Amino acid sequence: MQLKNYMEQVVTEKLDDLLKDRTDICTCKQCRTEMITHALNNLPPRYVSSHQGEIYSKIDEMSTQYTADISRCLTNAIKVVSSNPRHQK
Ligand SMILES: [Zn+2]
Repeated sequence: MQLKNYMEQVVTEKLDDLLKDRTDICTCKQCRTEMITHALNNLPPRYVSSHQGEIYSKIDEMSTQYTADISRCLTNAIKVVSSNPRHQK
């Protein structure tokens, strides 16, 4: 059996989307991980056991369902992490 948190996948993809036009903030790997962690802690986990093929159609489905929540949590996470990076500038 394979367990997968769909939310993690969706949040990761959405963050890439939101950060691709941002040149004003740090988007290094460490900051991205912090942002993902922050957002995931504010979203309901969606664990599903599934075969590989099914995962991707479910991600689309869930992505639509939770788009507003995910965007809101990610926007907040980006703000929090970018204003207080965990590393030296
Ligand atoms: Zn950084």
